[in-house]
Amino acid sequence: SAVRSAINAIQHYKVLNILTHDCFETALETEQKISTEKKNDSPLHGRPILIKDNFCLRDTLTTCASKMLANFRPPYTSTIVQRLIDHGCIIVGKTNMDEFAMGTASWGAFGPVANPWSLTKTMATNEETSKTVLHIAGGSSGGSAAAVGANFVSIAVGSDTGGSIRNPAARCGCYGFKPSYGLLSRHGLVTLVNSFDAPGFFARNIDDLIYATNAVAGSDGADATLSSKPFQALKTSSESSKEKKRIVIGLPDDYDIRALSTEYRSCWQDLVHQLTETGEFLFRRVQIPHKPYANAAYTILSSSEIASNMARYDGIRYGHHTKNIDESKDTYETILKKTRDESFGERVRGRILAGNYYLLEENYEKYFVQSQRVRRAIANDYRKLFEEDKIDCLLTPVVSDDPITLAEYEQSNEIFSDNDGFTVDANLAGLPALSFPVRISSKGFPIGLQIIGPFMQDQALLSIAQRIC
Ligand code: GLN
Repeated sequence: SAVRSAINAIQHYKVLNILTHDCFETALETEQKISTEKKNDSPLHGRPILIKDNFCLRDTLTTCASKMLANFRPPYTSTIVQRLIDHGCIIVGKTNMDEFAMGTASWGAFGPVANPWSLTKTMATNEETSKTVLHIAGGSSGGSAAAVGANFVSIAVGSDTGGSIRNPAARCGCYGFKPSYGLLSRHGLVTLVNSFDAPGFFARNIDDLIYATNAVAGSDGADATLSSKPFQALKTSSESSKEKKRIVIGLPDDYDIRALSTEYRSCWQDLVHQLTETGEFLFRRVQIPHKPYANAAYTILSSSEIASNMARYDGIRYGHHTKNIDESKDTYETILKKTRDESFGERVRGRILAGNYYLLEENYEKYFVQSQRVRRAIANDYRKLFEEDKIDCLLTPVVSDDPITLAEYEQSNEIFSDNDGFTVDANLAGLPALSFPVRISSKGFPIGLQIIGPFMQDQALLSIAQRIC
């Protein structure tokens, strides 16, 4: 059975650490049950899928790869997961990630996800040697990306706040789609940064991304930031018109950064040459004037929202609660402090600290308000390119080089990632973006590229993708 094969693969490659929690038994039962039901005509019917562990699934562990939520079983299911279930998808497990989706290595409280492409070069045996021969899978939705990249399942769910779908998709060699902000409901997705978070998908072809998006999109009273426009079902490759209008693609100079490796830059340039030769694409060099401020704005705005969102983890309403309490003198503050000390990792604490700093009364105008201006300016830079300069989409890198090993990553001790530069703009401006596999690097890792389209033009972006990829 499809579910059995997915389970076998995940179990066989346990070293990849793809899951935080499995749903194997229920998945097998569900498969039995729905196979006898009258045939549902959804293209997703009966497919085993995986869900990033920051999407609530009723009565099932939803940990966000944090000790804080290690025993948290939500009493409800997130909108998009429920809709996938209604279409006959079978959830095989919850995928491993960076703690609360902060990061680009998928290394939370339950250890790192390893990149499946490392296994084409080595046989990792014990944990110590593993770290020097296994590489990061990217993040933060690394478990979902690794499972699709390794072909354990055909579709997996992720979330993208600053690149967390596109980055691991590129590292693991699959497609990763971050829809426009507000296209898909965030209800039941554990919030990282309310104004950036976008649920999305990993798949091995664009039609699967379209089936999944069509299955879950549409109005949801539980998410007030959802677009109020009625959703038009996206067209798959066989449904979309065969008329071939010439496509104008922007190549932003601001993405050609020094850190981009020669090999990754060539991959980008070679694709441009190949596509130019077909005669169907026209390339234009473009500028994004406010790009130099994008990372700073992302860092400030995201950590500020994080600091405020994380306040809910006080150890009292839900989540971890310290056992180390001195009844005679501990106040609410000391209990809160102990609880959070015991259960939040370094990076989470670092971001809360940074966010609270930016939000201090004397800093608020200087950092937070200023970053909001930058955010609007960047959104406007992109809007101009699409509307005034008639650019259909931008083509850019996703990451700058091959993944580092787990051992190297462990040394780096990052609180913020220097790997987000190619991806954060789409979140700052709410734009749809897709990362797609292009070729294999000389060291044997997949190289991906990204296309970014106009706000709420997800259909147009995916139609271009069908012609490029
Ligand atoms: N790497 C970025 C961060 O750490 C993006 C994370 C994400 O998209 N969830 O904030």
